[in-house]
Amino acid sequence: MSSDLQTSLKYSESRFAELKQSLNSVRDEIAQEVNQVGRSVDSVNLVAVSKYMPPSDIQALYDLGQRDFGENYVQELTHKAEILPKDIKWHFIGSLQTNKCKVLSGRIPNLYAVETVDSQAKAQKLNDTRGEFDTLNVYLQVNTSGEDQKSGLSDEAEIISIAKFIVDQCPKLNLLGLMTIGSFSASVSEGENQDFKKLIEVEAHVSEQINKKLGLSMGMSADYIEAIRQGSTNVRVGRTIFGSRPLKQDL
Ligand SMILES: *Cc1c(COP(=O)(O)O)cnc(C)c1O
Repeated sequence: MSSDLQTSLKYSESRFAELKQSLNSVRDEIAQEVNQVGRSVDSVNLVAVSKYMPPSDIQALYDLGQRDFGENYVQELTHKAEILPKDIKWHFIGSLQTNKCKVLSGRIPNLYAVETVDSQAKAQKLNDTRGEFDTLNVYLQVNTSGEDQKSGLSDEAEIISIAKFIVDQCPKLNLLGLMTIGSFSASVSEGENQDFKKLIEVEAHVSEQINKKLGLSMGMSADYIEAIRQGSTNVRVGRTIFGSRPLKQDL
C-alpha cells in the first residue's frame, strides 16, 4: 500500500448500486448451489475479499449486510480495521509472516480468522499475543496442488501435528478448518476440482485424529460454485463482487 491510505467511508450512489447488484448475484448463486446439493444456506460463509479496494466499498457492502471481509496485507488490514465498523469480521488470507503475527492477533480485536497458518511457530505466536481479545479462529493452509510457488503445508503428518498442537495447547485459538488456494489449472478444468478433492481427503484424516469436524475454506471468484458443490464451508470472493482490482503500482 502507498503512504496515502484512503480514509473516506463515503460512497456514491452509483457505486452502491453496482456493489448491491454484484453482491446479490453472488448470494443468489450460492443459494442456488446449496439448494441443488441439499445444504442449508448458512452452511456456507461468504467472505468478500477487499484487498486493494477502498474502505468506502467495504462500507457500502457493510450497509448491504455483508460482515465478513478478507484482506491480504497486514498494514492495509490494520488501517481498514481502525476506521471501519467494529463488528466487521476480518479474515486475514495473505501470506503470514511470523513477525507480523503479533500485530494481527494482538492489535485487531475484531480479527475473526487467520486463514493462512502454516507452521506451529506461527500458531504459537498468534495464541500468545491474543491477550484479552476473543478467541481467534484459524485455518491451516494446505498446498493441495503441489506447486512449489504456492505456500501452505503439504505433509499430512505435519498438518496433523500442528492441528493437535492448536487444539491441545492454544487456548486462545479455535481451529476452524483447512484452507487451500488451489491451482489455476484446477479451477478452469472440467469436472471435479482435484485441489478441493485433496483438501477434503486431508480433512478426513485430520478430523479423525483430533475428533473434530473441520471447515473447508476453498473457492474464489473462478471456482466458488464448484467449491460449494464439493463441500466448501467458506468461500473467498473478490473480483466477482468488487470488479477488477487496481494494480498495486497504481495505488
Ligand atoms: C485475492 C484472493 C482471493 C479472491 O480472489 P478473486 O479471484 O478476486 O475472487 C481469495 N483468496 C485468496 C487467498 C486471495 O489472495
